[in-house]
Amino acid sequence: MNPLRTLILAAAGNDAVRHLVATAPVSRAVVRRFVAGETASDAVGATAALVADGLTVTLDHLGEDTTDRALAERTVQAYLALLDRLHAERLADRAEVSVKLSAVGQALDERLALENASRICAAAEQCGTTVTLDAEDHTTTDSTLRVLHELRRSWPWVGAVLQAYLRRTQADCRELAGPGSRVRLCKGAYAEPPSVAFADAHEVDLSYVRCVNELLAGEGYPMFATHDPRLVEIIGERARWHDRKPGTFEYQMLYGVRPDEQRRLARAGNTVRIYLPYGEQWYGYLMRRLAERPANTTFFLRALAGRG
Ligand SMILES: Cc1cc2nc3c(=O)[nH]c(=O)nc-3n(C[C@H](O)[C@H](O)[C@H](O)COP(=O)(O)OP(=O)(O)OC[C@H]3O[C@@H](n4cnc5c(N)ncnc54)[C@H](O)[C@@H]3O)c2cc1C
Repeated sequence: MNPLRTLILAAAGNDAVRHLVATAPVSRAVVRRFVAGETASDAVGATAALVADGLTVTLDHLGEDTTDRALAERTVQAYLALLDRLHAERLADRAEVSVKLSAVGQALDERLALENASRICAAAEQCGTTVTLDAEDHTTTDSTLRVLHELRRSWPWVGAVLQAYLRRTQADCRELAGPGSRVRLCKGAYAEPPSVAFADAHEVDLSYVRCVNELLAGEGYPMFATHDPRLVEIIGERARWHDRKPGTFEYQMLYGVRPDEQRRLARAGNTVRIYLPYGEQWYGYLMRRLAERPANTTFFLRALAGRG
């Protein structure tokens, strides 16, 4: 992992840094670049604006690593309220939700996470939309795929996320590429040991391309989550090679990252889905985005120092 990324992730855990970032007057504007806001109304407003621009959306209620049943319940309630709002605003056919099982109790009890995720899936179905289970660190992968498998018995449209940096992922892609399956492929965002993950960025890219081929050759609906211009180009080429028409796969990018490219791909006839996070717990998410890209960090530090 690059040293700046390690440094930022370490600083993210420091209380003084957290206080500085959370209270600096400039933070609100900087946070707004990557996070829709703190409330469901903020999230629904940002969704409507993206949909008006020809994009689709997946919404993430920020919060993870819940070790408390009451907090897990609050997360479920937040998703149920959000789904109602999306339905009421007639956005549900263009906007789904992304759920982290750790936020609905996975660390406490896998069955609790399954029950909670089931309630969110049932509500999503009633509202006319879908759910995708985010991927977290590799110690949760087997548990998350077990829960996915159970959920798919009732809701075959539940989306999986696979991380190209994991050595196991090409095999998982093959396994999950059956008819009707929805699979998001991303590079992976957690610090993982070399025993389970490729450490070299080029190796991760090569794995991503192998996984693109597996998913496009399969019968499911692949969702390619990346901002990498080379990979976006390769996905387009491979999709043509596999005779995949627009509408049989989609591109996904994060809110605030390469917005011009998001709109360019959509104008070219592709389905483009924006991952839109919202909620009070934006701090950890923001720090991960800053750690990913030094240019974002410079922008942020200059703004904090009053020179942005
Ligand atoms: C929709 C979506 C959902 C995700 N879900 C998950 C998940 O469930 N689990 C998980 O572990 N990870 C998830 N991720 C994060 C993902 O794993 C990566 O950490 C993140 O996307 C960065 O990887 P990248 O493919 O964009 O390439 P990177 O290797 O980060 O960047 C490659 C290139 O992309 C371009 N680029 C990247 N960022 C920017 C920027 N800010 N501005 C301009 N150009 C840029 C640059 O040219 C850069 O060289 C998700 C990402 C997306 C987009």
